[in-house]
Formats: sequence, structure tokens, C-alpha cells
Amino acid sequence: MASANQFDMQNPLTQYPRPDFPKQPQPVPGLANKMQPVPDHGEESYRGLGRLTGRKALITGGDSGIGRAAAIAYAREGADVVINYLPEEQSDADDVVKLIEAEGRKAVAIPGDLKSEAFCSELVARAHHELGGLDLLANVAGRQKALDSIEDLTTEQFDETFKTNVYALFWICKAALPLMPTGATIVNTASIQAYQPSETLLDYAPTKSAIVAFSKALSKQVLPKGIRVNVVAPGPFWTPLQTSGGQTQDVIEKFGSEVPMKRPGQPAECAPIYVFLASQESSYITGEVFGVTGGNTLP
Ligand code: NAD
Ligand code: MG
Repeated sequence: MASANQFDMQNPLTQYPRPDFPKQPQPVPGLANKMQPVPDHGEESYRGLGRLTGRKALITGGDSGIGRAAAIAYAREGADVVINYLPEEQSDADDVVKLIEAEGRKAVAIPGDLKSEAFCSELVARAHHELGGLDLLANVAGRQKALDSIEDLTTEQFDETFKTNVYALFWICKAALPLMPTGATIVNTASIQAYQPSETLLDYAPTKSAIVAFSKALSKQVLPKGIRVNVVAPGPFWTPLQTSGGQTQDVIEKFGSEVPMKRPGQPAECAPIYVFLASQESSYITGEVFGVTGGNTLP
């Protein structure tokens, strides 16, 4: 994967690979290093400017995809980082821990299933303990499984998608907020699907609408404490979520061709907005949703 420095001016249309991509099924949750081409999470390219110096960050889904890109960027901006992921993703998580430690920052890996409220509480408590505080929460973990028909959508799948994407985010915010100081920030992850739902994502799309509404409501509730809450809404990004069942393999072959840029985003291209919304640079912004969509603009 060609990895461009994020400051080099160039044509965004040709900056990264375009479809067609090979079919590449993987069992859920999927591993980044098994993807072809391997995604760019900014490993070779992201340059920090000290924007998060001394910050203490918890990132869910920090092993791969957009969460890994945020983890690398947060560490290079000076933060200590806890990542959460599923036990099956340990090899991806190990890679991220090495990258964070290479920056001289503390990295703590806490695997576990966010569908459990008890685990979500324990994760926050452990992150707070290991980092000696918690002032940055990036909720990036998510689950997506494409299905052609409502007839095939089981209550179990509907429940699992809402537990992972919505309930876990609620449980983590609830546990984290009492521990977070004035100036702390929360960055949640929605999707273009909140606004332009695909016919195959009948359970996933409404979880992303729920995240938008929850985050806007929460932003108003916690602003008096000097805490800000914002949302990133990505378009199609080249991550294991998509190749391990988030889309059918036919869609993976053409993945990204539907947006004006005619290519998927690479996780590295999401990192700067996660940094901006986490840092004091975005001090006058809360309750907002930022699209990173390859030109498929949010309403
Ligand atoms: P990804 O597969 O790399 O990351 C998702 C992560 O969610 C996994 O790495 C896994 O650790 C975590 N996860 C899933 N179920 C979990 C559970 N039960 N317990 C703990 N962790 C769990 O894929 P990604 O695309 O980087 O996804 C990150 C976020 O971006 C998700 O919220 C996703 O909905 C959102 N998003 C992705 C796209 C895209 O096109 N890739 C588009 C819009 C939004
Ligand atoms: Mg993963």
C-alpha cells in the first residue's frame, strides 16, 4: 500500500487503491493483516504535532481499521492509549501495542466483549486505573452484517448489532463520564448509513442513527461540565468490518465505486478528524457530526 504523508499535496482520487478488489471472505471479526491490499492505518505516514500531549485515551475497536488509525495518531500526538477488541483479534492488537510503544507512549490492551454491560464497566475502570485517569474516549467498535432480506434478519442478529453498536456505547459513556475531568472529550463513530441507509443493513443503519441522536443529546447534557461529545460519520472505509461480512463479496469487489471519489477511504484518512475532535483545537465544537465520505455528503 502506497502510504502518503498526510501533508503532501496530491490528487485524492488516485492517492489510494481503487476497485476492483479481490474477493476475500474472512470469519467475523476479521483481521487487518489478512486484507488485500493491506489497509493504510498511518503506520508509515501519520506525523503528530503534540496535539494530545499527556492525554489518557480509551479507544474501543482499537486493534484494526479506523480505531487502529486513531490509536496510532493519538499516540503520535502524545497520548497514552488503552485499546479494547475481541480476543480473536489479539494479533492485530499486538501490532497496535508495538506501534504505540514505539512512540514512547503507554499502551494497554484489554480484550473483551462489549455486549456485556459488566465488561464495559470493568473496561472503563481498568482503563482509568492503568492510565492514572481518563480524559479521551473514542467509541469506534462496531458490528455490521449485510443481509438481503428482512426474512433472514433474526432477532439474535438485530439484538447483537444493537448491543454492540448502541448499548455498549451507552454503557461505556455512563461508566466513563463520572471519571472524566473538565476539558475531556468523547468521539463517537456513526456512519453515512445514519442518513443514507442501504437496503442490506436494516439492523446496522438504525444503530448509526441512534448513535447520532444519543451523541447530540449527551453533548447538551455534559457541556455544563466542560465535556464535549462529537461524532465521525465515515463513508466506505477499507477495513475488516467490511470484508468479513459487512458487505457481500460481490460488493467488496467494487467497494467504494459508489461514492464520488470512486474508491474506499483508508483508515489513515479518518485519523485527523478523530484527533481534531479529541483535542482542544475543536474547543467550540460539540454535538456535531463530521462526514468523511469520499464526497457522498451528509444532509
Ligand atoms: P474494524 O473491523 O477494523 O473495527 C471494528 C472493531 O469493532 C473490531 O476491530 C472489533 O474489535 C470491534 N468489535 C466488534 N464487536 C465487538 C464486541 N462485541 N466487543 C468488542 N469489540 C467489538 O472495522 P472499522 O470499519 O474500522 O469499524 C470501526 C467503526 O467504524 C465501526 O463503528 C463501524 O460501524 C464504523 N464505520 C465503518 C465504515 C466502513 O466502511 N468501514 C463506515 C462507516 C462507519
Ligand atoms: Mg478488528
